[in-house]
Amino acid sequence: MSKHVTAPALAVDVRELLHQPGAHKHVVLRAALPDLATPVASVPAGSPVTVDAELESVVEGLLVTAKVGATVALRCVRCLRDVEHELEVDVRELFGGSGHEEDEGYAVLPGDRLPLDTMTRDALVLAFPPFPLCRPDCAGLCPRCGADRNATDCGHGGPDATDPRWAALAGLRTELPEGFGEPQGGAPMNKEEDVARPEA
Ligand SMILES: [Zn+2]
Ligand SMILES: [Zn+2]
Repeated sequence: MSKHVTAPALAVDVRELLHQPGAHKHVVLRAALPDLATPVASVPAGSPVTVDAELESVVEGLLVTAKVGATVALRCVRCLRDVEHELEVDVRELFGGSGHEEDEGYAVLPGDRLPLDTMTRDALVLAFPPFPLCRPDCAGLCPRCGADRNATDCGHGGPDATDPRWAALAGLRTELPEGFGEPQGGAPMNKEEDVARPEA
């Protein structure tokens, strides 16, 4: 029975390393990997990833220590602007060598070729930022009119601006007796739209 295995894009000939503890080899590979994407980050189709790897033959198999790099397209979660980011990740993986077929992505292929695709893919996707920002202080989009607050001042923004709807309520409150309508404990009313949220 022959299994269908997609040809690896990042494969290293490890013939001279197998069962030769102490032997090592340095390679630099560059190839495009398909489908590297999360909802807010991706390596654009056709854009190459670079793997700078030191392979070392050890008793347990092959130890790979690598730097994985790629240009990643990010979408700012506040203003939806697309930005490019150079990502570089350090990885170290032990590949089981022939005879350890549990995990196809981390096994030596027929012809003594070691595929680095799965390792590279896992390292990059894990390093994608879950909440990308175009810059740390991105002002985001105006929740009322949708304007990009980085580019324009639509007049609705600013942490000190008073929302006219709340201003009307504030006027009402001053006419009420002291303490009337205050929640237990006297917590101030929340103006959700204007509260600056610190980054988690
Ligand atoms: Zn932004
Ligand atoms: Zn606005």
